[in-house]
Amino acid sequence: MTALLLEGGTAARAIRDEAAREARILATRGLRPGLGVLLVGDDPASGVYVRSKARACEELGIHHETLALAATATTAEVVARVEELNRRQDIHGILVQLPLPSQVDAERVLLAMDPEKDVDGFHPTNVGLLVQKRPRFVPCTPAGIMELLRRSGVPLSGRRAVVLGRSDIVGKPMALLLLHADATVTVCHSKTRDLAAVTREAEVLVAAIGKPGFVKADHVRPGAVVVDVGINRIEDPGLAEEMLAGDPRRLSAYRSRGYAIVGDVHPAVAGRAAALTPVPGGVGPLTIALLMKNTVEAARRRG
Ligand code: NDP
Repeated sequence: MTALLLEGGTAARAIRDEAAREARILATRGLRPGLGVLLVGDDPASGVYVRSKARACEELGIHHETLALAATATTAEVVARVEELNRRQDIHGILVQLPLPSQVDAERVLLAMDPEKDVDGFHPTNVGLLVQKRPRFVPCTPAGIMELLRRSGVPLSGRRAVVLGRSDIVGKPMALLLLHADATVTVCHSKTRDLAAVTREAEVLVAAIGKPGFVKADHVRPGAVVVDVGINRIEDPGLAEEMLAGDPRRLSAYRSRGYAIVGDVHPAVAGRAAALTPVPGGVGPLTIALLMKNTVEAARRRG
């Protein structure tokens, strides 16, 4: 068996087109959706993510502003910028790029945000609404995965789903969304005993642990749908040769650059799963598309 590749590009494009269409409708009423991004410090990966979000905004006619703060910024300084964005009439969505430097209290920053502008869906009010199945803003990565599964025709009702990882950003909201879609959901984490026995029960397996190639073929039930959320930068030559062995183009790019981006799922899983999201090109494009959708939705709610 070779798994069908569930690429996110087509679904992401459709979601972005829908957001662009909605933005044009709002424009006829004199309303231009606006996204304010807070970037604290100079983490290179965060810089890349912020730039790709800015590009997506430009493409869709969404106003965007990035407020950059020094890596030494205090919690009070970051909170003050969030409050400034809360007050702005032309900013409908606010995003605080994570991770924040260690001296900044991320919880206080999050709590300072107007929940009506929390397009990442991390504020406790939005988390509570999601728990109660009255979602307002749903975290973009798990929401994107649900869109991908839906648009790929993957049935969920009554099926066994296992989520590997329990972060507030991916694992927990993913488990809630699958539960609300009537799957029978198990969440695994670093303390789970006999992990492979649990993940092998999954008809739908979502891996979000941040460990390159962690999910091997023996973690996977034959015929499962496997969603690989991981985005891991690897430099180790042995691991890179193993992860990229079946992909000469990426292997040669690794050899010239010295690093590669890989998921949490080992390529051998493709021989066992019915369908698999590739990394890159699977879940990644959907995250930004859902952010655009949430930003337009935030403007529409205010308008
Ligand atoms: P976190 O580090 O916040 O959470 C990792 C989770 O995995 C934790 O719940 C942890 O368990 C669990 N875990 C770690 N090691 C093991 C193990 N050996 N066995 C079982 N469980 C384990 O990560 P995130 O959820 O933020 O991100 C996960 C991955 O997804 C990362 O690679 C990240 O880069 C990627 N990501 C991709 C996005 C995209 O757009 N595609 C968006 C967001 C994230 P415990 O709670 O017990 O510590």
